[in-house]
Amino acid sequence: MGNVNPVLLFASSGTGVMEASLANILAAGERVLVVVNGQFGKRFAEIAETLSARVDRLEIPWGRVVEPEQIAALVATVDYRAVVVVHNESSTGMVTDVAGIGAVLRDLPTLLVVDSVSGLAGLPMRQDEWGIDILVSASQKCLMTPPGIGLASLSAKAWSIVNREDRLPRFYWDFRKARAAAEKLETPFTAPVALIAGLKEALEMIHEETLPCVLERHRRLAHALRTGCAALGLSPFGEEKARSSTVVVMALPEKLNGADIVCRLYERYRTVIAGARNRLAGKIIRIGVMGHVHEADILLDLEHLEAILTELGWPVTRGAGVAAAKSALLP
Ligand SMILES: *Cc1c(COP(=O)(O)O)cnc(C)c1O
Repeated sequence: MGNVNPVLLFASSGTGVMEASLANILAAGERVLVVVNGQFGKRFAEIAETLSARVDRLEIPWGRVVEPEQIAALVATVDYRAVVVVHNESSTGMVTDVAGIGAVLRDLPTLLVVDSVSGLAGLPMRQDEWGIDILVSASQKCLMTPPGIGLASLSAKAWSIVNREDRLPRFYWDFRKARAAAEKLETPFTAPVALIAGLKEALEMIHEETLPCVLERHRRLAHALRTGCAALGLSPFGEEKARSSTVVVMALPEKLNGADIVCRLYERYRTVIAGARNRLAGKIIRIGVMGHVHEADILLDLEHLEAILTELGWPVTRGAGVAAAKSALLP
């Protein structure tokens, strides 16, 4: 497809490449705008502070997303080195309009840095077209591989900053070394070869199904799962236009506690979903629809969820969740 950016691979979790993305473009005291609408945005702001950037946090209520106009207003007054956003905020299930923000920054010197750890391969992502300067992701979410590979891809605009000698100190994380090695199909340090074999297999699976079909499957399943959960009396969390196709987040009524549901689903059925360990603790449940997930999986989840809700004394109509999801799955 004519992508000219080599993808850089690091032996690391996602957070490693988040840090690397900033270490490669910043000098101490430079200004960074970080959009914070959940836990991973908060983490990115903390990383920027740790690297001694001057950080402005654009705080957005959790369950909402930033509007590109808000970014436009801020970059009109401050000369930021970078604007940092999380594409798919896994803690709230909100998808940010990265294309809209890219359009705002395209003709400015400010770089756009995007965490798509839980979005890439589950949500549309067009780095070049959208004007993303540094995109980071990791192996263990929609890419269906065990944890341990961090990925980064940079635009020419980003490389022109990374290549400067006056940036923060970097050795292992030096994108310049990684690029030089990638051009020879190597890595500068020992590669996690077993994981790379796994990632190759996962990418082949995606190509076999075709990327458009993979993305459509995520969208359909997330929609059906939300519909099914709603039929069990839970309501989708967050603003409607931004709801994720890779993680379904449901708000719980006062009477229910997220941790109880998560715990019981695991104890009874060995079904693993997530709650929250932040300000939303107890108030939401999160169900991953990432990667190798199919209709039967979400229908079984709904069956188990219904059983647990019943156990917890929450009134549900028998079979309502599965029935609603099934009709949402009809073509
Ligand atoms: C999982 C995730 C990360 C990375 O977390 P690690 O544990 O370091 O791999 C970063 N951002 C988002 C949005 C994530 O979902």
